[in-house]
Amino acid sequence: MQDETFFTFAKKGRCLLPAIIVMALLGCKNSNSNLEERSTYFVNFVEGAQAVNDRTRFLVFHYTAQDEEASMTSLQGEFVSAHYLIPENPVFQRDKPVVIQLVDEKKRAWHAGVSHWNGRTNLNDSSIGIEIVNRGYADDEQGLRHWYPYNDSQIIALSKLAEDIIQRYNITPDNVVGHSDIAPLRKQDPGKLFPWKALAQMGIGAWPDEHTINTYLAGRNPHTKGNIVTLQQALLRYGYTEMPQNGMLDDTTRKIISAFQMHFRPDDTRGEADAETEAIACALNEKYRPEK
Ligand SMILES: [Zn+2]
Repeated sequence: MQDETFFTFAKKGRCLLPAIIVMALLGCKNSNSNLEERSTYFVNFVEGAQAVNDRTRFLVFHYTAQDEEASMTSLQGEFVSAHYLIPENPVFQRDKPVVIQLVDEKKRAWHAGVSHWNGRTNLNDSSIGIEIVNRGYADDEQGLRHWYPYNDSQIIALSKLAEDIIQRYNITPDNVVGHSDIAPLRKQDPGKLFPWKALAQMGIGAWPDEHTINTYLAGRNPHTKGNIVTLQQALLRYGYTEMPQNGMLDDTTRKIISAFQMHFRPDDTRGEADAETEAIACALNEKYRPEK
């Protein structure tokens, strides 16, 4: 690269002085440098800075709430996008699932919207977004909500993709989240049938330890009333930045509890402040938010 650059200058018969200066700079001390020519200037890239980390800190899962064709249209439109899309029935090539990439990982996709997690905001800036083709839910005439299941092949494809992203960016388990975690007042995806526990067992995302939950339950019936003050404090500490601290089971508090339950206790997601939910939140904090 260096020799070529010098050769280019010499060949074109231009003044050799700039090239000589550049060569002198390159020659001075640092052998880890790389000279790159851009349109109107050179960059001497020197490796070795230590105070640095990847911009990507979070991995966010979504469902599209649409069929595959409509999902593709939306994600290629002017309002929303995501880095990846898991098709409804991913094809496999040589036993490996094929996922769809729509946005370069270096670029900012528009999937999270107004969002908060663990003190951070606007997660589009710092996350990779994965959409999964899934219709979400439908409410029947009695007002009962029915959730559409995910296909096993989708979860296999998702797990392979997520494992790779987590490893490449060193994303911590508590920073693998759902859209409903980071925007609990307006989003339900990826929904209560998303297999968070199974994924956590594969090393994807956070999960509380059973024995720690039992310690925090302290013999209480899991379905009895928990302590709302403790639960609000615990969920704020875990990452739900919008959680009120007023000791009341108000609408905002219920929605955030429900989002938390969809992730960690999907059997009952009504947003009740029960003892089990409180114990799960405390167990997660013990594991992922140790006192400093
Ligand atoms: Zn979403």
